[in-house]
Amino acid sequence: MTSHVDEQARQRIGLPEVLRRTWRACAIYARQCPSWFAATAVSSLFVACGPYVTIWLSARLVDELAGRRDPGRLMQWTVLTLVVSAAVSLATSAAQHWKNREGATTSWSHKRILMSKMMDMDYQDVDDQRSYDAFLNVVQNDNWAGYGIRYVGYIFDDLLTAVFRILGGIALSVSLFVADVPDGSPLDALNGPACGIVFIAVMLAIVVIASKCEDNGNRLWARHAEDARFGNRVFAAFGGYKSTWRNALDLRIYRQQEQLCSPMLRGNNTFGYHSVIGRLARGPMGAWMVAARVLTVGLTAAAYLFVCLKAWGGAFGVGAVTQYVGAVTSLFAGLSALLTQVGEMRNNAEFLGTSFAFLDIPNRMYQGSLTTEKRSDRRYEVEFRDVSFRYPGSRMWALRHVNLRFRVGGRLAVVGPNGSGKTTFIKLLCRLYDPTEGEILLNGIDIRKYRYDEYMALFSVVFQDFRLLSLPLGQNVAAGVDVDRRRAVDCLGKAGFADRLATLPKGLDTSLYRDLDKDGVEVSGGEAQKIAIARALYRDAPFVILDEPTAALDPVAEAEVYARFDELVGDRTAVYISHRLSSCRFCDRIAVFDHGAVVQSGTHDELVADEGGLYHELWHAQAQYYTTPAEA
Ligand code: ADP
Repeated sequence: MTSHVDEQARQRIGLPEVLRRTWRACAIYARQCPSWFAATAVSSLFVACGPYVTIWLSARLVDELAGRRDPGRLMQWTVLTLVVSAAVSLATSAAQHWKNREGATTSWSHKRILMSKMMDMDYQDVDDQRSYDAFLNVVQNDNWAGYGIRYVGYIFDDLLTAVFRILGGIALSVSLFVADVPDGSPLDALNGPACGIVFIAVMLAIVVIASKCEDNGNRLWARHAEDARFGNRVFAAFGGYKSTWRNALDLRIYRQQEQLCSPMLRGNNTFGYHSVIGRLARGPMGAWMVAARVLTVGLTAAAYLFVCLKAWGGAFGVGAVTQYVGAVTSLFAGLSALLTQVGEMRNNAEFLGTSFAFLDIPNRMYQGSLTTEKRSDRRYEVEFRDVSFRYPGSRMWALRHVNLRFRVGGRLAVVGPNGSGKTTFIKLLCRLYDPTEGEILLNGIDIRKYRYDEYMALFSVVFQDFRLLSLPLGQNVAAGVDVDRRRAVDCLGKAGFADRLATLPKGLDTSLYRDLDKDGVEVSGGEAQKIAIARALYRDAPFVILDEPTAALDPVAEAEVYARFDELVGDRTAVYISHRLSSCRFCDRIAVFDHGAVVQSGTHDELVADEGGLYHELWHAQAQYYTTPAEA
């Protein structure tokens, strides 16, 4: 794999934009987990300031030891140091425990942000590869180093700790600069303001250079985001056992082990020892980090030098040496951490750009405000009026000048060759897409003018590639956690699942699949299809749409569904897509699609009688497999 340098990461963005993005991400994240932010603030305070309490008390103890050595006071200081240090440690641990407990759900909070966006997006964007790529980029940035929205949490934590360290350090080290060496001492030159200024300047210089080194290292890391994202994408596709497990049958038959493993071993070495990132870690990135650490040691050395010289000159006692060295080192380490976090904020702002590119995908579908009024008589009439449709980005018409009116309570079959536009027709009917031309009317009004959620609630659909969840059967049927058990059992019965239900150990509470429950059941394709039909019936919407609903059923089960179709559908309006024309005979009207247009419409008998028509051709093409040559 060639090395890509993330284009975005190369263009540094200005500080105001960095702050704007970080603030926005903080607001989004804090809405999901406000308690984590509160816990982190408290924990940072204790982590940063706790050591100062111990430093100050130890200094008093050492002063007493080096000075009057009064046993009573020594005992007092010892007890006080022990008790207060223990109390601070306890409080720090409690705060960290609180933070960790709240932190256990932060990864989930981030997922929830992305999932809500995905659920709110227009379907046409969910179906668009560009949105999917934008989504995967966000996920992989997060998987790789937590970059993106979650990273502002780390920055918040480290930044706040740094600020508390700085404040505590200043409070404990101010007296270092005002304590004078007695006049006449060879070191009394240390009393002049110039000395203090030079010391602070040296410390600041070390801090700035160390932070810069660390930032350079971090930037190299961030720049290779695209390599890392790709690596994670390959890992997600091939790395786990999931694909091996789900595809076990095919993998064995076609002996695809090598094919499955090679992308991990050869094609993708993003995180390996010889990878670009591996070389970086051993080379420049490692060097920058080492330089930063060495300079930090220099920081401690400079602090010791200045404090010890003043103590040697007689400015303060030996106890204060411990206090000042500890406070000054911590103060400047805090400053260094602050600068590093500002650099991290800059790095992360580029990844936030990727996150916001996904979160800001606009909803373009017009959302009307008319209510669909719940009609107990289910008299909803839908009409396609000269509807044409092209998928976004496609130049081909998937539907062309479609005119169709649904009879209330009628059964409409939609047939036609592959790619003739049948599924697209359903997607438009359910308003997953809007027509490119023409309009769809509900009771005479353009469907765009209705409230989207209310319009969607009119349809129960069993798509060809329906999905069930690894949750209890009842919840799958109810499509929710609240299950009307009698209704669920009734719908499963109507869908032909009653016998199988009777064999399930926990009935409706039996989990489907074994992802979450070792006692879950693996259902066959046909059984899954029956459950999907039951889910559609449970919803009790005025329209039922079945896209190849019997494709996975055995002939007996299929015949059963047809025989009970009227009972299944009741007084609802039904749309039924099928390749098996024999199964359309019970519908009172059949629309034949070809190349996106409705080329014929009528009853089965009318259409079969039309010898020049497509239906006649399709019917006889299938019939030859069911009839002897003499019959044909
Ligand atoms: P059918 O259900 O009759 O098999 P479809 O409605 O799925 O046909 O497809 C109609 C046409 O639209 C086909 O040419 C198909 O390639 C195209 N098509 C289907 N889905 C998409 C999509 N998401 N993006 C672009 N073109 C699509």
